[in-house]
Amino acid sequence: MIPNDTIIALATASGAGAIAVIRVSGKDAIAITAPLFRSIRGKDLAKQKSHTVHLGHIMDGERTIDEVLATIFNGPNSYTGEHVIEISCHGSPYIQQQIIQLFLRNGCRTANAGEFTLRAFLNGKLDLSQAEAVADLIASDNEASHQIAMQQMRGGFSNEIKRLRDELLNFASLIELELDFAEEDVEFADRNQFKALVDRIREVLKRLIDSFAVGNVIKNGIPVAIVGEPNVGKSTLLNALLNEDRAIVSEIAGTTRDTIEDEISIGGMGFRFIDTAGIRETIDVVESIGIKKTFEKIEQAQVVIYLVDGIQLMENDERLPIVKTELEKIRNKHPQKPLLFIINKADRLTELQQASIAQELPSALFLSAKTGTGIEKLTSELLNFVNTGALKNNETIVTNTRHYNSLLKALEDIEKVKEGIDLGISGDLMAIDIRQALYHFGEITGEITSDDLLGNIFANFCIGK
Ligand code: GDP
Repeated sequence: MIPNDTIIALATASGAGAIAVIRVSGKDAIAITAPLFRSIRGKDLAKQKSHTVHLGHIMDGERTIDEVLATIFNGPNSYTGEHVIEISCHGSPYIQQQIIQLFLRNGCRTANAGEFTLRAFLNGKLDLSQAEAVADLIASDNEASHQIAMQQMRGGFSNEIKRLRDELLNFASLIELELDFAEEDVEFADRNQFKALVDRIREVLKRLIDSFAVGNVIKNGIPVAIVGEPNVGKSTLLNALLNEDRAIVSEIAGTTRDTIEDEISIGGMGFRFIDTAGIRETIDVVESIGIKKTFEKIEQAQVVIYLVDGIQLMENDERLPIVKTELEKIRNKHPQKPLLFIINKADRLTELQQASIAQELPSALFLSAKTGTGIEKLTSELLNFVNTGALKNNETIVTNTRHYNSLLKALEDIEKVKEGIDLGISGDLMAIDIRQALYHFGEITGEITSDDLLGNIFANFCIGK
């Protein structure tokens, strides 16, 4: 159901700024704004062309609230597909509120979370996965997540799904047609061609499903665990990594990383350090590497950094066999997990000492968390572990859990269809599985939706989007 009232919300971040943008959308957007806007040149806003900008004042009766720019978009050529007015006013929260209150008194309603984008979807301006990409784009905070959200918003992913769905739909209709001619035993749908199509769909689905592993870490950051005994330098290393990143980020005026304390961006990828509170507390357990908590942490991580104190290693002969055993323990328990084995405090080791350690522990990387020597090597190793091949090749990557689940279900249905073809089952049974697969494809792009689903998706948006 397409709503027919007119909504308003602040489109820019709340709080003070140089400029704020207030967005009005709905069939009466222009009719409501025109009498509240007094053009500098005496123009009637209601008579102006679409996609034009006008300077004037927002008037509450004879009281001037602000000097603003009003931009007109006539539907359907607007973001929402409806008539839209964007008012750029001065960015004081007081002015913003005064203007919004004025519009509310004159027939507008406050927009719900995500309602502008919901209307864009209902009016066919975006499909569902593109609408979801708008939220991802706004949330993107590194190059990789930005790139994926842009690709999805442009429709890369939905086009692929839609193409497959159309081809499958075509076959479904042919098979259903056969059912109408059941007595005559005809085959409109060429079974070999159909088999080839089903195989192709399986391949694409599998690739997309696999891409979620990459997509998910890109969107949420790659989880990294730093483990090692107390006092080996875990927090020093974490701070060194965070500071290096902060130093880079703070070169860009106005950016701050205070909110995402334990996340860093290396080569455009986000890395997230897990359970850093645990690191800072420095639990006083001698063999902390052996304790359950460490292994739980390793379990959650995609990359593990195992840190050892180089000074201890030189000064205490008993350390070497212990370190070797611990290293083996981690490797045996998690053979697939990338592990970076670091000897810290290298600033206190001579080259000769490093060489003798390297002989015993050839996979070790020497580093000083204190002076920063070797950190660059560590960050480039971290990046090496991440499979960003798909990203570099510009392949479609699935980042959304909802899409992932629908793809899994679609694959299940397609496997059944394939089995059906192989077993030569009757058209009417096959048609049921094909319809199921079509249903799950449709869930992704929004050809098939329920109010609950839409409510869930758009509730996660902010108001004004
Ligand atoms: P954690 O318990 O593993 O988090 O260890 P900390 O980061 O708290 O470090 C323990 C001690 O080792 C502190 O006094 C650090 O200053 C020192 N430390 C850490 N990294 C280095 C390093 O690379 N070189 C030297 N010389 N000292 C270090």
